[in-house]
Amino acid sequence: MIILAIESSCDETAAAVVKDGRTVLADVIASQADMHAIYGGVVPEIASRKHIEAISGLADQALEQAGVTRADIDAVAVTYAPGLIGALLVGVNFAKAAAYGLGVPIVPVHHVRGHIAANYIAHPDLEPPFVCLCVSGGNTMIVDVRDYTDMEVLGATRDDAAGECFDKVARVLGIGYPGGAPMDRLAQGGNDKKYSFPSVHVHDAPMDMSFSGLKTAAINLIHNAQQKGEELDLPSLAASFAGAVSEMLVPRTMEAAKACGYGKIAVAGGVAANSRIRADLEAACKASGDKLYLPPLSLCGDNGAMIGCQGYYEYLAGTRGGMDLNAYATRDIKKG
Ligand code: ATP
Ligand code: MG
Ligand code: FE
Repeated sequence: MIILAIESSCDETAAAVVKDGRTVLADVIASQADMHAIYGGVVPEIASRKHIEAISGLADQALEQAGVTRADIDAVAVTYAPGLIGALLVGVNFAKAAAYGLGVPIVPVHHVRGHIAANYIAHPDLEPPFVCLCVSGGNTMIVDVRDYTDMEVLGATRDDAAGECFDKVARVLGIGYPGGAPMDRLAQGGNDKKYSFPSVHVHDAPMDMSFSGLKTAAINLIHNAQQKGEELDLPSLAASFAGAVSEMLVPRTMEAAKACGYGKIAVAGGVAANSRIRADLEAACKASGDKLYLPPLSLCGDNGAMIGCQGYYEYLAGTRGGMDLNAYATRDIKKG
């Protein structure tokens, strides 16, 4: 079965052609990051317009790269939630038009479910159930993936997403947008014990997380030093910050894995590329005996292949969108 997949939830327009869920025939991405970098963050209106410009050509490019024709497409999968509403609507309307024109079903896909599915592409042996740490620019949650389309949130951030914090601290440091990867590079060789940051525990919700205090503490530290003309040890600041983020994520993920007892942990989303978080999870899984599944860096951030993969499993489960399919800025992963 061949699926054309469309992703436009944030600042990447992506199209992919995926065969039988896990075989990626084509995966093309047009990133708008340079465009938004001058503003230090995604400007929703610009994102929507850029998606409109890119999407048709990108879909054609994906078909060409895959060596298939429009007649070979069996279904169109599309990210319909969560994300920037105007950006999502571009993908959803393109997918509706394509599905209608081709006379094939349309399969709506939850973006975070897509991030989780990136692991199925990378690891042919991986099957549910497993626990997945989903950590990206707009979402941070620990998910019990009971089956391909049956999942439950075990814990989530009460405020900012982890990726958002990396981006905001990087913006104050002026090291680029999106800031996660530059922060990661800056942290190499830094002393992660040099600066200390608050660590929050949510009363009565031990799996929930909070990052806004951590973000504000880092930003205040930088601003105060700038005002006083003091020199900060930036690699150590970045290393300490990454350590604090990891300390919020990793022990909770291990607790969740222990409670579920599957022996399998996966990681998903753009922040899954972070070297400190990856290393800490590797060490924790070595100690616990859980098998760890990390997506390659190329599949951590937004892409169309992951939507095509999850779209396949959604299709098998009977998920269909009609011509009245809408986009949603927020949507519970449990509902799909
Ligand atoms: P969401 O998936 O929640 O809707 P998004 O699609 O914008 O948000 P992704 O594309 O999955 O997010 O991930 C982008 C985020 O990942 C950005 O915040 C970026 O800074 C962060 N990121 C990328 N590489 C790294 C890294 N090495 N370390 C930390 N963060 C990183
Ligand atoms: Mg992005
Ligand atoms: Fe994403």
